[in-house]
Amino acid sequence: MTNQYEMMIGLEVHVELAADTKLFCRCSSRFGDPPNTNICPVCLGMPGALPQANMEAVRLATRAAIALNCSINPVSKFDRKNYFYPDLPKGYQVTQFYEPIAQGGYIWIDDPRKKIRINRVHIEEDAGKSVHAGDEIITAEYSLVDCNRAGVPLIEIVSEPDISSPEEARQYLEKLQGLLKFARVSDVKMEEGSMRVDCNISVRRKGSQVPGAPVEMKNLSSFRAVVRALAYEFQRQAQVLEQGGQIVRETRHWDETEQVTRVLRTKESSDDYRYFPDADLPRLELSQGFIEEVRNEMPKLPDEIVSYYVDELGLPEYDARVLTLDPSLAEFFDACVSLGADPKTASNWIMVELLGYMKAENIPYENIPLSPEYLVSMLELINKGVISGKIAKDVLVIMIETGQDPRTIVKERGLEQISDDESIARIVDEVIAAHPSVVEEIKAGKAKAVGFLVGQVMKHTKGKANPAKVNTILRDKLLS
Ligand SMILES: [Zn+2]
Repeated sequence: MTNQYEMMIGLEVHVELAADTKLFCRCSSRFGDPPNTNICPVCLGMPGALPQANMEAVRLATRAAIALNCSINPVSKFDRKNYFYPDLPKGYQVTQFYEPIAQGGYIWIDDPRKKIRINRVHIEEDAGKSVHAGDEIITAEYSLVDCNRAGVPLIEIVSEPDISSPEEARQYLEKLQGLLKFARVSDVKMEEGSMRVDCNISVRRKGSQVPGAPVEMKNLSSFRAVVRALAYEFQRQAQVLEQGGQIVRETRHWDETEQVTRVLRTKESSDDYRYFPDADLPRLELSQGFIEEVRNEMPKLPDEIVSYYVDELGLPEYDARVLTLDPSLAEFFDACVSLGADPKTASNWIMVELLGYMKAENIPYENIPLSPEYLVSMLELINKGVISGKIAKDVLVIMIETGQDPRTIVKERGLEQISDDESIARIVDEVIAAHPSVVEEIKAGKAKAVGFLVGQVMKHTKGKANPAKVNTILRDKLLS
């Protein structure tokens, strides 16, 4: 049934800018401070308090706009969006409604390769936060208001409805998150609310020229929730249309527990907000010089780094994509390479062992629990034959857990590889003596059984014997 319908998805993403202070006052914008400790007359909207734009936030917003291929407007303006909510002390939110800082950008997604257009990027301030005593607003005995977040600088990135599946929406969000992280615009953490996603989805019969009524879902808490909520809405709307019903323009809430959407309210139109220019704030004028300066200081973005890894360092594209999932990972890898590590070897160890460990322990990318120096000196120990690759995996974990230098670990714990022929030959003799029947089989022509004896030698040496040498010595003794 659903294959006769198509969806058009547009995403509105709010991102907190990594500026130290709020948008119109000098209060700290830090996350997680005790409630109402970062507030002042300006962000509380006291009468007579005068806001002044934070140029650091403007600079970050400009950088985001450049990273998203937007054109920057040399003049933009601030407007008031009026609505009442307990955690909005001013009774309005300052945003850029009529003339945003930037517009007309795009992001590429890879599968299918497709350009998703960005309608606009505008600057706005965040609201405070209500904390309800109890689970829900309706049943809460009372609610508390924390204004630390009121006035924290945000940008809103509004895409065109170019996204045609939940999977494309996920790719768009991942790309966007990567770009903003690498541009050092924001830490884009969904779990701390520094990245928030609203979705608009409309569904229509394939071939129809009339766009369907948009349904909005606000504040989805993870990319997974976005994907599921969109998939659910597509099904629901297609079914309503199939049964001859009509989709109404409304805001729905994604219920994570039940995995369904429910009506929250019928959509307010922009008239309800009574937008008007903020008379306290002058026009935001950006000189050509300022825009050029921001352009020139732009850090390298993921696509550029991927090309460098593939073309210059010879990494497979897959590796390059994994290493550019986060700036910390790419920096760690770059440091290993500049310390002399072979790029592909370093990439393997980072992708498989290091990331495997971090994933199992739930360690975020930005807290890599190891220094590049230690990883590289461990790789040197393997290269020089001091330790085997197998033992090195244990050494890596010990390095992470003790913070010790790999050379110290290997020395103190006696993990050096046994490579001298005499020691290996002695152990080989012991193993041969202990397994006469296997030796018989080998001598009778079952050469494959040598593998079993190699395994026994490795077991006796706790993995420290040089396996290639063990193999050679065993074969010399039994097969020649
Ligand atoms: Zn303030």
